[in-house]
Amino acid sequence: MSKIAVVTGASRGIGRQTAALLAKQGYFVAVNYNKSEAEAASLVREIKAFGGHAFSVRADVTDMNEVNIMTDKVHSVFGSVDLLVNNAGVALPQSLFSDCTEEERDRVFGVNVYGAMNCAKAVLPDMIHKKSGCIINVSSVWGITGGSCEVVYSASKAAVIGFTKALAKELAPSDIRVNCVAPGVIDTDMNAHLSREDMNVLSEEIPLGRTGTPEEVAELICFLASDNAKYITGQTVSADGGMIM
Ligand code: NAP
Repeated sequence: MSKIAVVTGASRGIGRQTAALLAKQGYFVAVNYNKSEAEAASLVREIKAFGGHAFSVRADVTDMNEVNIMTDKVHSVFGSVDLLVNNAGVALPQSLFSDCTEEERDRVFGVNVYGAMNCAKAVLPDMIHKKSGCIINVSSVWGITGGSCEVVYSASKAAVIGFTKALAKELAPSDIRVNCVAPGVIDTDMNAHLSREDMNVLSEEIPLGRTGTPEEVAELICFLASDNAKYITGQTVSADGGMIM
């Protein structure tokens, strides 16, 4: 029987490639988006074109009510969720911590931390009832090392790692695995503000000599979701070209 996945922030970037790859692997995929309705719809068309199963569903992950409505919709269209990929995320333009406003701080934590918690909370009752399920959270290398001029973002991504570990311990007796991926510098809209020159400088600092692709992060997420990773829980795995060793 096909498994059912929800990928948050699947309209663009890493989430989009993850949703597409999961669909290729036979998952029925709920493509969550917030603002990019057209992009989400085009992904659903792409998935259906190769014979996969998907539908798009809008929800702002910061809003528990919208997340519950999304989960109910997934339940009525496909059934109960087997895999949640908490990918939706926002970053701020690089700036000193002292210049970051409270509104910016709350927005970053709202999406990156509370968004992941809201979505987990919505799918868990069914997973615990079934005694099976998998949650994959998307952190960042900055959540492991901390990044100068990325203080709030780094702190939010460190919180995602702490959330992953604690939730993995709490859910292991229910046979639910919770893992985390920590991408390095990946070519998506999130880095579109960086100039080609900035990207070249960053690439020189990466042992593998280049930035990563969203497909490469999607491959890692799909591995952690698969039965090949069935003895792995509570871990944070980097896809960063060797930035962190
Ligand atoms: P992206 O291309 O900017 O895409 C971000 C996605 O998040 C979009 O699909 C967006 O949906 C969604 N999103 C934002 N706020 C949302 C909300 N409130 N509710 C629902 N969805 C929301 O970013 P990306 O690079 O693919 O990043 C994906 C994840 O990887 C993020 O968690 C990011 O922090 C992490 N990451 C990225 C990098 C990198 O270098 N790119 C490195 C480390 C970690 P809409 O457009 O529909 O609003």
